[in-house]
Amino acid sequence: MSDRVDAEAIDRARRQAAAAERVVVKIGTSSVTDEESNLDDDKLDQFVDGVNSLIDRGKEVIVVSSGAIGAGKGRIDPDGDTIEASQALSTIGQSHLMRRYTESFERYDRSVAQLLLTRHDLNNAERFTNFRNTLETLLEWDVVPIMNENDAVAIEELRIGDNDMLSASVGVGIDVDLLVTLTDVGGVYTDNPKEDDEPERIEAIGRNYAEIETFIEESTTDEFGGIRTKVRGARKISEHGAPAIIARSTEPDVLQKIATGEPVGTIFVPISEQQ
Ligand code: GLU
Repeated sequence: MSDRVDAEAIDRARRQAAAAERVVVKIGTSSVTDEESNLDDDKLDQFVDGVNSLIDRGKEVIVVSSGAIGAGKGRIDPDGDTIEASQALSTIGQSHLMRRYTESFERYDRSVAQLLLTRHDLNNAERFTNFRNTLETLLEWDVVPIMNENDAVAIEELRIGDNDMLSASVGVGIDVDLLVTLTDVGGVYTDNPKEDDEPERIEAIGRNYAEIETFIEESTTDEFGGIRTKVRGARKISEHGAPAIIARSTEPDVLQKIATGEPVGTIFVPISEQQ
């Protein structure tokens, strides 16, 4: 990496991330399901433990969880891989996902709420205001909002596309102080970590963004854990002036580490902090 972010800017961003009052945490399908596409209770409970620890520190946490289509596949194995099948599967999986989140947060005596959005809800000012009001009320009530795209109605022109974009857009719209994207790789690497034995993890992204964007575009395949959209989502938040972190969901106490300023994953330094 020719143009690294200086250590002081990284340190400031980590402290800013640790102090964040309003946090969006996005978790991907493979981080809540097992190899047979069933919801994985241990993974989900571990994630909820982390979210709960952030709330216990006085933070407002908004969860964006994928896994509806994945969990649906674990229940019903349809012939063929059509869009209609994925949409129908999402409706089956989403209810299981919410049931598990409800049970898991009950361990801490916390209630959860489900919010399903489409592109319309992000682009239409009135709908977004309504969404924001609902969210603010839930947070005031100490209820944990859990969001996903409304896959059942989100045909092509309504689709946000993926939850990386959903979490970044919502994050900007509700002025979050931090976006955390939890996934099955440990951050952003100089090569595909699933193919290269010794890839170099990039500690921080700021001034070096253009360079990183170029090699991600070049090296990324669809199987690359969708790192491209995660990077774009994190960049969007950092351009909005807040830090964003991409980290491995299975890293022990990953959210607690972020809340204490420990270095995990790849941090996107807020643009105003890059000088
Ligand atoms: N909304 C999809 C689901 O819950 C996931 C989309 C994504 O992972 O970006 O299955």
